[in-house]
Amino acid sequence: MSHEDPGTAETGERGLARFHPAPRSNWPDAPFSDWNDWRWQLKNRIASLAALEKRIALTPSERRGVLHSEHKLALAITPHFFSLINKNDSRCPIRRQVIPTADEAQADLSDASDPVSEEATSPVPGLVHRYPDRVLLLTTDRCASYCRYCTRSRLVSGASGYDFHPQLDQALAYLRAHAEVRDVLLSGGDPLLLSDDKLDYILRTLRAIPHIEFLRIGSRIPVFLPQRITPELCAVLRKHHPLWMSIHTNHPRELTLEVREALGRLADTGIPLGNQSVLLAGVNDSVEVMKELVHKLLLCRVRPYYLYQCDLIQGSKHLRSPVGKGLEIIEGLRGFTSGYAVPQFVIDAPGGGGKVPINPDYVIYQDAERIVFRNYQGRVFEYPDPAAPGKKRAPPPMPDYAIIP
Ligand SMILES: *Cc1c(COP(=O)(O)O)cnc(C)c1O
Repeated sequence: MSHEDPGTAETGERGLARFHPAPRSNWPDAPFSDWNDWRWQLKNRIASLAALEKRIALTPSERRGVLHSEHKLALAITPHFFSLINKNDSRCPIRRQVIPTADEAQADLSDASDPVSEEATSPVPGLVHRYPDRVLLLTTDRCASYCRYCTRSRLVSGASGYDFHPQLDQALAYLRAHAEVRDVLLSGGDPLLLSDDKLDYILRTLRAIPHIEFLRIGSRIPVFLPQRITPELCAVLRKHHPLWMSIHTNHPRELTLEVREALGRLADTGIPLGNQSVLLAGVNDSVEVMKELVHKLLLCRVRPYYLYQCDLIQGSKHLRSPVGKGLEIIEGLRGFTSGYAVPQFVIDAPGGGGKVPINPDYVIYQDAERIVFRNYQGRVFEYPDPAAPGKKRAPPPMPDYAIIP
């Protein structure tokens, strides 16, 4: 137990000392009322080379990356998120996520503009129906800031002149006609950029479809634009339970005091919160960084949900880390810290196979009578398998490493 922790159990402020307000040194004359207003944050986004160079000395590679980004995924960074960048460190993990570099222009043979083949399983524009009982609904093509490794960079930010407007009416008609869908995941773009009224309309309309049980929102707004999580927005969300939310954070520094408060408002609204991280080279590819992140998430009442191997999206090769690194991170968490803090490591299968769990191997041997396995410390244990009498299980077949095209 930490003795320096000034928090008290009574107020639920345990661990508060690990959260810091976003430094506002770049906007010394923005009054707090402006800074705290999400509309001001959106209006003052850094979205051009000139705006960026006014506030930070770019490396030559970043400069070329920004120029190149005009033809693909746009540049946009909220003042809140920009203020977390260490301007004296060209390898800053916040900077790497949102400031493009020349590496983005590099084409790799395995890269794709639609790496997980969403278009192939999209029955109507703006809706992806890949799994039996749930769908992904793309509600907008805009985000508060653009992640350089975005798997949907072909659609968002008005990239490549492809003007994507989700066909909401068509998507809703599809959902009404498909009684097997019980779970709708609102994504985009970022659904929380829609107005309170529009969001209320979409959620209400989905709620009116009897077979839809479960609604969830995927959003990075609590991290990019925590000011958007207003009491009014929470009042809208509260009407549509059971509503869950997945946020997206990669590095512990993203969890500022403002973000913690925004997440607290969502949790107090009764929204169970999960986090999705993407494993990114030079951002969070170490056990130490991920452990600090997942611990801070638990303090924010957010359950780490998925850790993604970076998709094969065009121009993201420099951000991808080896699959073995993800396994090492999971092994370094499991058993060493709270089970609630351990996300599931997945690869979203190229070509559209969905999210597949990739796990460290704990099983050493298995036959009809026993299973032999190791624990997190490497100690080996045996468990006698209670196979039904007279119905002994056959030993597992030899693995057949067939690659299905
Ligand atoms: C990720 C995803 C979902 C949701 O998957 P869960 O594992 O249930 O979180 C649904 N549809 C598509 C197309 C997805 O990519």
